[in-house]
Amino acid sequence: MLADLFSRIATLIMSIDEKIQLFKKSVFEFQKKIGFTDVVIYVDEQESDITRATWYADSDGHLVSIHYTKSWIEDPSTMADEIVQVAFHEVFESQFYKISKALDKLYSDSYIEQLRHELVRRAENFILPLFLSKNSNWQFTFPWEVV
Ligand SMILES: [Zn+2]
Repeated sequence: MLADLFSRIATLIMSIDEKIQLFKKSVFEFQKKIGFTDVVIYVDEQESDITRATWYADSDGHLVSIHYTKSWIEDPSTMADEIVQVAFHEVFESQFYKISKALDKLYSDSYIEQLRHELVRRAENFILPLFLSKNSNWQFTFPWEVV
């Protein structure tokens, strides 16, 4: 079911602006769905050779800035399902800012990041498909309905 949806999405040809809008829409949709609404999230663009996207939080964790990588989103091989997954990844992971900061004095950054990503991967495998299932109210139609 999910594979069907993804393959259908992957066949669509999107403009760069549509991909950017899809990323932004996905970030804010997932923020709402997860209930991660006690923070303000901004979406911005970045240059990077190593990541598809990154998130940053202010010291209190009240503001989260999620940056997609320009070259990645502009790449013609970057498909809609990947954009949605990366948006989910960044939103879900940025929830762990406060706990990561609390663990900062006890463990290395790389160990904390590893633990965080174990949780994010499980969420990608379990929660993301639920959000994208036909029973969800996610508006996965083309052209993308962007607010
Ligand atoms: Zn990550």
